[in-house]
Amino acid sequence: MEHQSHTTGATVADHSQPANVFSLEGKLALITGGGTGIGLEIARCMTEAGATVVITGRREEVLRDAVENLGESAQYIVNDITDLSSIDGLVAQIEAAHGPLDILVNNAGINLKKPALEVTDEEFSRILHTNLHSVFALTRACAARMVARKKGVILMISSMAAYYGIDRVVAYAASKSAVEGMVKVLASEFSGHGVRVNAIAPGFIETEMSRKAMNSDPDRRDRAMRRTPMGAFGQPADIGHAAVFLASPAARYITGVSLPVDGGNSIGF
Ligand code: NDP
Repeated sequence: MEHQSHTTGATVADHSQPANVFSLEGKLALITGGGTGIGLEIARCMTEAGATVVITGRREEVLRDAVENLGESAQYIVNDITDLSSIDGLVAQIEAAHGPLDILVNNAGINLKKPALEVTDEEFSRILHTNLHSVFALTRACAARMVARKKGVILMISSMAAYYGIDRVVAYAASKSAVEGMVKVLASEFSGHGVRVNAIAPGFIETEMSRKAMNSDPDRRDRAMRRTPMGAFGQPADIGHAAVFLASPAARYITGVSLPVDGGNSIGF
């Protein structure tokens, strides 16, 4: 890896970079909701890039199958992220077993599709608790350790629902918009301490969650595709590859951004 020196114009070797700047060799990643959909493909892409991954979720059988499928660089821990009292213990358990965490991917999330006027306070709180409060609590627990070590990467999974008005997902959109705000604040606070914070905003990606939202609603599906210039749904691995990039040394000067991975959906007319 070579860099041009600002002061002398000379070309200098930068020994702090690995030979392959896209590699995650030797890195340890925690991926919430890593047993299915987007989280599973983030886990797969990260192990293929050389990382060890710990995936979490509430259903043990799903996690066990995922780890069998991912191979020996993957482990699982059954954890409900909404149990905020479990979070410090979860992070301590992972670091005691595997060493310092380099990467946190806040992927676990839930959706609720309902007209805003029918959403109860309980439903609104449930979505916010999973998609926002838990994300903050886990991020705080991991970031405290990363900031102390002056090293780490935090990724959030946002949504098109935070970019423009999608009807019938008011709580989900509120949670993801808040995550977008959190990325900017946390990047401002942590980046000077060697910890980068970014989001990926997936467009319409084929998973269990999107199937539920789309299959019963062909009109919604058509509208989503009409404003997607690439004219197709994305695959979970498309998010996985972007996550590898943002977590890798190749993205070492990228912090505080939300990267749409959406076939152009966010800029489509
Ligand atoms: P899935 O429903 O397949 O995955 C969600 C994962 O989160 C599951 O593995 C689930 O496991 C886990 N999870 C849910 N609640 C909890 C909890 N309380 N504690 C721990 N884990 C939990 O959906 P996707 O893969 O589509 O979604 C992944 C992320 O991507 C979400 O944040 C979603 O909002 C986001 N996203 C998805 C888009 C899409 O088009 N698919 C578009 C934009 C954003 P378990 O149930 O076993 O706990």
